[in-house]
Amino acid sequence: MRAMVLERQRTALKETQREDPRPAAGQVLVRVAACGVCRTDLHVVSGDLTDVKLPIIPGHEIVGRVVAAGEGTNRFAHGQRVGIPWLGWTCGTCEYCTSGHENLCNRARFTGYSIDGGYAEYAVADERFCFPIPNAYDDAGASPLMCAGLIGYRALRFAGDGERLGLYGFGAAAHIVAQIAVHQGRRVFAFTKPGDETGQAFSRELGAVWAGDSTQKPPEPLDAAIIFAPAGALVPAALAATRKAGVVVCAGIHMSPIPSFSYDLLWEERVVRSVANLTRADAEEFLALAPRVPARTTTTSMPLTQANEALAALRDGRVTGAVVLVPSSA
Ligand SMILES: [Zn+2]
Ligand SMILES: [Zn+2]
Repeated sequence: MRAMVLERQRTALKETQREDPRPAAGQVLVRVAACGVCRTDLHVVSGDLTDVKLPIIPGHEIVGRVVAAGEGTNRFAHGQRVGIPWLGWTCGTCEYCTSGHENLCNRARFTGYSIDGGYAEYAVADERFCFPIPNAYDDAGASPLMCAGLIGYRALRFAGDGERLGLYGFGAAAHIVAQIAVHQGRRVFAFTKPGDETGQAFSRELGAVWAGDSTQKPPEPLDAAIIFAPAGALVPAALAATRKAGVVVCAGIHMSPIPSFSYDLLWEERVVRSVANLTRADAEEFLALAPRVPARTTTTSMPLTQANEALAALRDGRVTGAVVLVPSSA
């Protein structure tokens, strides 16, 4: 099969011919139809994240069809469309796995990080961590649901029930979360890089009542804010925009250092927290909700072999919604 492989961090992915993977016991072999490009992939390639299995095939927003299955599998029919997300395997026995926090499993393995991912024509995955894809979505349109959507949804849950929700960084995750938040009756305030008028207009199209620069204060205090952009300076900015007892959720896997700030910003019971990974329960809940909203995805498809160009477009902020890699054979 053709795959885009990262051999060493801080180098470009290399187009490589590999033998097709074979499904081990409990695994399905999936012919990849689309794989979304997530900011986490950029952190894997650029070296922001360490402990990456190398060489690695990145990509954890995989949509494809089951073409073979290993011993002992029974969840999916041949040809069935499935999604493969970031959480690829958990131990099932540690204190986190046994208390409903498998996202924090001490021995968790992640797709496109510790297990080869979807920047390829085929991928294997543990069937217990795959999900049926709602029919309302086409292949490319469904792929951002697998991380931007469902980890965004987990972040939204942790933001609480407040009506006035700030979203810092209006990329793949925010464009889905905004629609769900509006569906829940919230008012969305979108913050982009200063001067990003395209991003601000996009957020208004998706129902934001206000859009502005991340350096601006919103017209009224926020009940909660979710930070999707990897910029630590947004933490004090979001706290300053948030009311007493408001919550600021950091949703990314990596962030630049958070500058020190006055205790006044945290005082009055404001909360700062992070969100890590996903549980399978998050995925089931989100994939049932998304088509009912309906949360539509805006995607730009690029050929698999242009993975480096796709990552560069994401890094440079040239993507509206999500960029998706499509193997030419799909
Ligand atoms: Zn565990
Ligand atoms: Zn992701």
